[in-house]
Amino acid sequence: MQDSTFVETQFLFRGIQLTEQVLVSWDTFELTQSQAQFLREEDPELSELDAWEFAENDPDLFIWHWEDLEETIGQWLKTYDYPSLRIEGYNMGWQHRSGYMDLRDVQTAKQFLSFLPDTNCTFTIYKNSVDNNLRVENAHHDAPTGEGYRIRIVRGCDLCYDGIVLSEDPEVDICEHCEDLET
Ligand SMILES: [Zn+2]
Repeated sequence: MQDSTFVETQFLFRGIQLTEQVLVSWDTFELTQSQAQFLREEDPELSELDAWEFAENDPDLFIWHWEDLEETIGQWLKTYDYPSLRIEGYNMGWQHRSGYMDLRDVQTAKQFLSFLPDTNCTFTIYKNSVDNNLRVENAHHDAPTGEGYRIRIVRGCDLCYDGIVLSEDPEVDICEHCEDLET
């Protein structure tokens, strides 16, 4: 991960906010709560505490919803022909770090979600209907106030395996690293 400028991001975030819609969201507290509510509607005699405990101990609840989430992300990836992505993170973890990572030819939801920290995350992924890029709000125990990610669809470099092309010029089809090697 390398540093990137925070100021630029704030501007970009504001610029895209008006055209966003939720692609997927994940919140285990909310899932448990709505399942408990559902159980009490099915059985009005059930106490609030019991309903919560049943919901919390349901081994399938999270599995089913996670499968739904992966399917939605998988469809998004398919729509964009398994794209390469530049993922910029802001305010990450307790150190509030900024940085970016590139993912080449993303095929699966698991591969896509690899930018999230390996812990219990609560997140929402927003889709920008103008440029089709994504924005992610994520919270976890090391980042209770939330960290942000911006995900841009980019092209993969024609020469090397990992490189991506950031230039919007369609004539440019190799990454900056390969360009440096050629000159
Ligand atoms: Zn390259």
